[in-house]
Amino acid sequence: MINIKDKTGCCGCSACFNICPKNAIIMKPDNEGFLYPDIQEELCVNCGLCEKVCPIQNPMQEIQKEQTAYLFQNSNDRVREESTSGGAFTAIGEYVLNRGGVVVGAAYDEEFRIIHSIAESTFELRKFRNSKYAQSNMQDIYRQIRKLLDSGRFVCFSGTPCQVEGLLSFLRKKYDNLLCVDIVCHAVPSPKLWEKYLQYQSSKVKDATNILFRDKKPYGYKYSSMSIYKGNDVIYRNGVESDKMLRAFFSEIADRPSCYDCKFKKRYRESDITIWDCFEVYRFSQKLDDDKGTTRVLIHSESGRKVMDEVLKDNISLQVSADALCVGVKEMVFSVKKNPKRDAFFADMDKLETTEFFNKYFPDDGIMYLKKTARRILIITGLYSFAKKLKQKMKRR
Ligand SMILES: Cc1cc2nc3c(=O)[nH]c(=O)nc-3n(C[C@H](O)[C@H](O)[C@H](O)COP(=O)(O)OP(=O)(O)OC[C@H]3O[C@@H](n4cnc5c(N)ncnc54)[C@H](O)[C@@H]3O)c2cc1C
Ligand code: SF4
Ligand code: SF4
Ligand code: SF4
Repeated sequence: MINIKDKTGCCGCSACFNICPKNAIIMKPDNEGFLYPDIQEELCVNCGLCEKVCPIQNPMQEIQKEQTAYLFQNSNDRVREESTSGGAFTAIGEYVLNRGGVVVGAAYDEEFRIIHSIAESTFELRKFRNSKYAQSNMQDIYRQIRKLLDSGRFVCFSGTPCQVEGLLSFLRKKYDNLLCVDIVCHAVPSPKLWEKYLQYQSSKVKDATNILFRDKKPYGYKYSSMSIYKGNDVIYRNGVESDKMLRAFFSEIADRPSCYDCKFKKRYRESDITIWDCFEVYRFSQKLDDDKGTTRVLIHSESGRKVMDEVLKDNISLQVSADALCVGVKEMVFSVKKNPKRDAFFADMDKLETTEFFNKYFPDDGIMYLKKTARRILIITGLYSFAKKLKQKMKRR
């Protein structure tokens, strides 16, 4: 049976839970809120399947292969506006749905918890749009996917690289009717932190109909904000320097232990397609640099190429070399560094009252107001894009 020596040895993909023929595994949250397998020994028959499907205990070798690369912008302005970057994922999802398939991705449940679920229609596809910066709960989604695949349905699965490798390990055979789309993944913060943030925002969340981690309104793609919506009205909005959840995400203070030593960050992937942001679109094309969002699309397989050839026909794209697309993308290959305050942060999460907790680690102090004001001035004067380009050029040196 599966034995995790230390917490970096489990990414929480739930492949072991999904495969167990005796339902002897429960995915249980630890004190930080991350799920780990807990074996009910009285039910276990020592079949060894849980070990066999673990993507950390059975790492997939990185094999260099031919890759095709594009910059992508969805031709539907609304879809592009609602998506994190250029809306590539929705376009791929629509292609699959239009062929009678189903799409699987990370969505909110009715309490705004982040879970993997299935979409059967283009209307439902909307729930996957926009990044959710906390680990999603996989539940029994791999089992549901296997059932769909065995019944002959075309399935598009999307998620973090570890979730894709977890699914492929779980399936243990190649399916021609499966398309896997992964993201370039910074890291995933704890679901318990997200729960704490929802409590902190409870007066707004109680009326909310949607929460966007990366809202492009009103300042554009380069300065997206956390927004809480009630219908079409925004009831909360704050940017990366002032919103507590975004500050936690970008300070690497609450990520899953496996993310600090990620085994899945690589250029040559097991997925068919990898998607991620392109803030530096001006490096490839001035014309595409409209601050409305562009997705980088890296294709690893023939089936990925076949799908994208069709998807590209109805959208705006530019083919570039795979090397040019990937150059300087550190988060694709390097793990994030653990914030030295991480242990104290989790200890305080249990001890302190919600507002006191967030204010201790992310205070609304002079520095925060200075950063916020400077950013707003740069946006109003039209200098923000210029300043960001300069910063990115300096970072690349
Ligand atoms: C946790 C996380 C970290 C990321 N880190 C980076 C990064 O460091 N650099 C970078 O360039 N891009 C990163 N991205 C990817 C980026 O934010 C966009 O997902 C990407 O640009 C595609 O955008 P889109 O407009 O095509 O699609 P969107 O419509 O925005 O697509 C959303 C897709 O992301 C998936 N998704 C959303 N939240 C989660 C989640 N919690 N777990 C698993 N899958 C999820 C959905 O299933 C869907 O497939 C990250 C995304 C997430 C979720
Ligand atoms: S060894 Fe087999 S029965 Fe036991 S927990 Fe693992 S998968 Fe389940
Ligand atoms: S990495 Fe996945 S399969 Fe391995 S122990 Fe963790 S949840 Fe189970
Ligand atoms: S950083 Fe690695 S381990 Fe963490 S969620 Fe992303 S792919 Fe999984």
